[in-house]
Amino acid sequence: MTRAAALLYPPTCVLCGAPGDAGLDLCQGCRADMPTLGACCARCAIPLTRSSSASSAEPTSPDEPNRPGPSLKLKPGPSPPQHKPELSEHRIGAHSRIAGDGLCGSCQRQPPPYRRCTAVYRYEDPLPALVAGMKFRARLNLVRLLGELLAEELLARAEAPDWTWPDAIVPVPLHPQRLRQRGYNQALELARIVGRRLALPVDIACCRRIRSTQAQSALEERQRLTNIRGAFAVTAPLPRHVAILDDVVTTGATVSELARLLRRNGCEQVDVWALARTP
Ligand SMILES: [Zn+2]
Ligand SMILES: [Zn+2]
Repeated sequence: MTRAAALLYPPTCVLCGAPGDAGLDLCQGCRADMPTLGACCARCAIPLTRSSSASSAEPTSPDEPNRPGPSLKLKPGPSPPQHKPELSEHRIGAHSRIAGDGLCGSCQRQPPPYRRCTAVYRYEDPLPALVAGMKFRARLNLVRLLGELLAEELLARAEAPDWTWPDAIVPVPLHPQRLRQRGYNQALELARIVGRRLALPVDIACCRRIRSTQAQSALEERQRLTNIRGAFAVTAPLPRHVAILDDVVTTGATVSELARLLRRNGCEQVDVWALARTP
């Protein structure tokens, strides 16, 4: 943010309206309350439930109450479709013990076509409202905030010895028809913020959505897998190592389909970056 912009629009928490912290539109308190991902599969980042811990002696509550989130300062509007929680292909794995290598049952049985998914948050309050605000109301301050939070997480993860940066970020493409309807590809807008912050190019030429699929959020898990098949095409030479970026990873069907295609077309390494992951 420029000095003038900072004077005109001082950082203000999008959740509670208090002054923002560290130049972000989020205050310290609300940031501390954000549902960070915590223990998750080393490969697909699916959050591992408390019951997955073999050493946990505490009884587990099957329905952990959702804390009432702080009231989100979003303008009222039509209720947007949300990622509905669904039976994940990883559901069995999520509730099983993780192996010594930190993989969920599903990744142990069949590794995904990407090397590793890095996500920042669980897709829990207040993420659905933040993502919907970014996606359906094109709130630029939300895009900037969420992009910055993702970039910060990636910088922190880069401390790991096996971390390597991609040659380019590839946002999950929207079909041109959907893009016209929405006017906006949230994955691309997030990628622009992340790319600028990390000094990485954003490659929007290398692949395209060639089939207008039904919104994944409206489908059951099995339908999601067939719905997305063949939805993308490679349209330009691929970088050697890419990071696919999406706002929310649910079953992983979309990012897996895209990763498989990129790998099949010569991409040597594919990572997935996401703001949030559904349990
Ligand atoms: Zn706040
Ligand atoms: Zn996994």
